[in-house]
Amino acid sequence: MSKIMDGKRVSQETKKWIIQKTKELKDRTGVVPGLASILVGNDPASEIYVRNKRRACGRCGMFSEEYNLSEETSEEELLSLIGRLNLDEKIHGILVQLPLPIHMNPAKVMKKMSPNKDVDGFHPENTGKLYQENPDVISCTPYGIEKLLDYYGIKILGKHVVVVGKSNIVGKPVAALMLNRDATVTIAHIETQNLPTITTMADILIVAIGDSQFIKKEMIKEGAVVIDVGINRNESGKIVGDVDFEDVKEKVSYITPVPGGVGPMTITMLLWNTLEAAETFAHGK
Ligand code: NAD
Repeated sequence: MSKIMDGKRVSQETKKWIIQKTKELKDRTGVVPGLASILVGNDPASEIYVRNKRRACGRCGMFSEEYNLSEETSEEELLSLIGRLNLDEKIHGILVQLPLPIHMNPAKVMKKMSPNKDVDGFHPENTGKLYQENPDVISCTPYGIEKLLDYYGIKILGKHVVVVGKSNIVGKPVAALMLNRDATVTIAHIETQNLPTITTMADILIVAIGDSQFIKKEMIKEGAVVIDVGINRNESGKIVGDVDFEDVKEKVSYITPVPGGVGPMTITMLLWNTLEAAETFAHGK
């Protein structure tokens, strides 16, 4: 009998803690954590993500600013906005919503951000520190996955974690995080041969590929823990994950639903990282 890992519930509990800590920080130091979100272009999914993040900030007592830039904005203009936000004392976290338009180089944009304000953990300095087991900030989705595993008391140490997908925002950092927790980690991707032979070895299977209901029960070991990061729309417009939930649910021990699993945790860990950045700022004042 599988257990659902309720990301909504864990996220609500975590947010209560964040609200409390935000209030304490303000009472103690006068510092209100501030997040600036930058959206370039009119991607509807990105607009929803940014709006949800802004609302979540408000509900946690944080300050937030949103910059909606047109698709035609030059890379130079974006870099100069980030430069100004790096110096703005009201802002402790800067989020640049990805993907960026093709005329912009995401690596250059991430590098422009002050590493202290990089609440997404994508600056090369923060990525490097994660790989050196000395992270200052952990990317929000991987961090949310770790919190979920810990909340449900799932042992990571010594387990075989298979990560399917090797993106810079999910696959690679979550693999590094699991390795830091002394799991044995395998990373698979689109060019991986005999994928099911690898995924069926997983004690913990983390899937971030962006392909609707791709993982079926034949690809999973009996009793595995399955973390589904995917957010896709199927033919009927319904939001589904990368895992075929109905097909696998009787075979797994734990599984995250989509929606309501990893998604809410990602937003919550963004708030967590913003709070931590504000605490570091207040400490250094
Ligand atoms: P991406 O598109 O940048 O990378 C996809 C990765 O999956 C690549 O490494 C590719 O090699 C691999 N891949 C694709 N198809 C595959 C297949 N059939 N077999 C094996 N590997 C395959 O992806 P991303 O940005 O990491 O996003 C992945 C999914 O996660 C998307 O659905 C995205 O919307 C979702 N996502 C969700 C959250 C959240 O908070 N829940 C956060 C970020 C991304």
